[in-house]
Amino acid sequence: MIYLDHNATAPLRPSALKSMNDVARLVGNPSAAHRAGSVVRTHLNAARKTIADHFNVSIHQVIFTSGATEANNFALKGFQGDVIINYGEHDCVFKARKDAYICPINSDGVIKLDKLDEIIAQIRSQSDKPILVSVMAANNETGVIQPLAEMLALLRKYKNVYSHCDGVQMLGKRNEWTALDLDVITISSHKIGGPTGIGAIIFKRDVPILPLLVGGGQERFHRAGTQNTVGAAGFAQALKECAQDDWQNIKNLRDYMEQTIITAAPQVDIIGQKSDRLANTSCITMPGVKNTAQQIYFDLNNIMISTGPACSSGTVKPSRILINMGMDEVAASQAIRVSLGWYTTMQDIESFINYWISFYKQSNHQQMSTQIGAQ
Ligand code: PLP
Repeated sequence: MIYLDHNATAPLRPSALKSMNDVARLVGNPSAAHRAGSVVRTHLNAARKTIADHFNVSIHQVIFTSGATEANNFALKGFQGDVIINYGEHDCVFKARKDAYICPINSDGVIKLDKLDEIIAQIRSQSDKPILVSVMAANNETGVIQPLAEMLALLRKYKNVYSHCDGVQMLGKRNEWTALDLDVITISSHKIGGPTGIGAIIFKRDVPILPLLVGGGQERFHRAGTQNTVGAAGFAQALKECAQDDWQNIKNLRDYMEQTIITAAPQVDIIGQKSDRLANTSCITMPGVKNTAQQIYFDLNNIMISTGPACSSGTVKPSRILINMGMDEVAASQAIRVSLGWYTTMQDIESFINYWISFYKQSNHQQMSTQIGAQ
């Protein structure tokens, strides 16, 4: 199998599995006062320290959650004030608050900062209550990276405005953003080769956010429920290992793939190509061919890629994000996402390219024959 869907989930790193196995053998609730509990607590806090160090914060600022969906819901639903999101966000941010203000994005997938400024000014003209601006670090569908530093500079013009960043796709792929003055950051383990079912919310500053889950006093009363120590151990190990990933090689493979496909089919659109993008992500249209057909074709040939968000009725709608970048529905429904990872090889990429070109030629040949037949 050729796995090119790392933005959906990455394979579990063997070293993360080993760390999980080591901790899974232990018994004890990390909140228990006895020695067995204390041993498990030590592992939990060691994992917390790895994440805290990555963001240069103290361990008390890292709160474990069940993943980024929970962490994002926690940040937005719990925020005591108005929330501004944008059309590029993941659904777990986009749907978290029905009353959210929504900022547009441009055709390159980048948030329109002038519009964000207008929205904040409009809210401020009516009230001075807290505002949370939520902007993801990098987009899961296109890989487009948001101008977080510029956004923070804009927010500094206002009082009582906080920033939240969904850092899920950026974590482990780039480091410079970890030093930014973001107030709240949410991350997930399984996108970097850790286990599913564990994520974190990082409070870099005191932000008026109430807990989503109440009950016990775990996670300093920010998130009730017995912690997933096994998951935390795997998450921390995966994060440590990310530092050794060769992102230049991944970028070279991605760029080679895009260039070869463009050469073979100059009409293709590489979405977000003009923007700063994650090195591993490519969102490519195949003119004239629906992404659902492409996915079936690649799947039959043992290549795993992604279409777009599947809708609950079972039909697949064109991506909200691509539509808000100005693409029409037909073009948006021809886009697939290819996302590479640390063990993607040139052979995998060559194979993907060959199948892509062959399916493209086959489909266009069929379309031309149908058109000629209809004349
Ligand atoms: N945010 C982004 C940008 C994502 O890509 C995802 C996963 O698809 C999530 C949030 C949700 O993460 P999790 O699977 O940990 O709930």
